[in-house]
Amino acid sequence: MPAEDDRRVVIIGGGATGVLLACQLLRDPDHRVQVTIVEKSANAGLGLAYSTRNPQHLLNVRVSNMSAFVDQPEHFWNWMTAHNLQTGPGCGDAFCFVPREIYGRYLTSLLHSHRAECSPRQALHLVRGECASLLPTRRGIEVKLTDGSSHFAHIAVLATGNEAPPDAHGPRGASPWQEPRQAGVEPDDAVLIVGSGLTMVDYVLSLLQAGHRGPITAISRRGLLPRPHRSVTPLRLDAADVPFGTEISYFLRWLRGVAAGGVTPDQDWRSQDSHSQDGHLQDWRSVVDALRPFTAEIWQSWPDPAKRRFLRHARAFWDVHRHRTAPEVDAKLRAAIAAGQVNVIAGKVATVAPQSRGATVTFRRRGKTESETLRVAKIVTCAGVGVPLGDSANPVLRNLLQHGLIRPDPIGIGLDVTADCAVIARAGQASDRIFAVGPLTRGLFWESIAIPDIRVQCAALAQRTLARSLIAAE
Ligand SMILES: Cc1cc2nc3c(=O)[nH]c(=O)nc-3n(C[C@H](O)[C@H](O)[C@H](O)COP(=O)(O)OP(=O)(O)OC[C@H]3O[C@@H](n4cnc5c(N)ncnc54)[C@H](O)[C@@H]3O)c2cc1C
Repeated sequence: MPAEDDRRVVIIGGGATGVLLACQLLRDPDHRVQVTIVEKSANAGLGLAYSTRNPQHLLNVRVSNMSAFVDQPEHFWNWMTAHNLQTGPGCGDAFCFVPREIYGRYLTSLLHSHRAECSPRQALHLVRGECASLLPTRRGIEVKLTDGSSHFAHIAVLATGNEAPPDAHGPRGASPWQEPRQAGVEPDDAVLIVGSGLTMVDYVLSLLQAGHRGPITAISRRGLLPRPHRSVTPLRLDAADVPFGTEISYFLRWLRGVAAGGVTPDQDWRSQDSHSQDGHLQDWRSVVDALRPFTAEIWQSWPDPAKRRFLRHARAFWDVHRHRTAPEVDAKLRAAIAAGQVNVIAGKVATVAPQSRGATVTFRRRGKTESETLRVAKIVTCAGVGVPLGDSANPVLRNLLQHGLIRPDPIGIGLDVTADCAVIARAGQASDRIFAVGPLTRGLFWESIAIPDIRVQCAALAQRTLARSLIAAE
């Protein structure tokens, strides 16, 4: 039984974000805190990103930057070493890229070790079930599950993460989250992938690994592919150097200029590489990485119309430079393109006419007016994760929205939250009971979607939660 003065926190969602937050809440054994994670799937700790069992699906961030704890950067690498996992191909040091499955095992082991070895003042409970609603009460919050059970806490944190958009193509569609053979994709099928980002890359690797022989076409508005990682000399940027609150066009010019070494500001930062005096490579990657600590502040310094312009015109460029692939993944993709099996098109699908098996698709290449036709057996939508809040199928988000306890952020890419991660109700007041972390909060934090950013957000929320007197509010 929890003691009267225990803080009770319920986390909705046991993906990476839920696990990282629980670890932060339980980090100091002297804090009295009871944490409950409610997770609807059988695989708590994995979420959408780390459920894959395909060894070809590598992390797109180096091991050295994937620790659960920002102040212990070697934590994940040490765990790998302790479990003899540091010897895989291409994995000589912490700067390598390992299968995402290994990261899933790391998260699961964090979850289980915290459950088994909490201090006497603490507990971590795992509840298998789907959260249906959150009801603020005078004493805290009632968390109701779809099976009718209830849990009580002082605060609840939404960590429901990435929601895959529904498949629009019925039997002609295949989910990128399922192995191709399981989804009925035959080895000689012509496959159309809508999207050309990291999910497309994963899916192409899945097809190739399954021995796919048929043609694979990937189509996206600009046809841009994620750039590969490289070892580069880190660059240190000072906050005073970063142009916060400027026009997007000025910001992008500035970025190109810094990437080009400040010498030729009009050169294209997207292709510029140069060598520093010590012989190490310095290129745009150093700049994009150096911006990481300032990304949220830059985003917040732009007015809403500028954010929308950025999403419309610059997001695709930003994403392919910011969210890069492991070099070995890039090499496999480029080889399949060079061999003619994968074709990447900049353009837009115009119509999809169902056939007895598959569909006839018409599309227009970027900048062209005439349509072309493609006959495909399967269409795989890889246009990113995340759906507008109003379209969410998640019962707890639908319920909170319906009761006016949450609202979409002004840009419409997540939940409206305060800088302290408190959700904001339809009428505008910030909740002192319901919080949100991770991808749900990207409207305010923008890059709160990758582990290096999520872990910082979770550490800050945990610190505030433990510092607050939740009990006094009863
Ligand atoms: C394919 C892919 C690859 C990625 N690779 C990397 C990488 O290499 N490095 C990196 O830093 N980042 C990577 N990311 C980004 C990042 O790690 C994820 O965005 C992060 O895992 C988010 O975790 P999450 O727990 O917030 O969301 P999710 O992974 O979506 O997990 C949310 C969890 O909440 C549960 N849930 C949802 N609703 C309810 C409910 N009502 N009741 C109960 N449970 C519920 C779900 O079942 C799920 O388990 C990747 C993302 C994707 C999609």
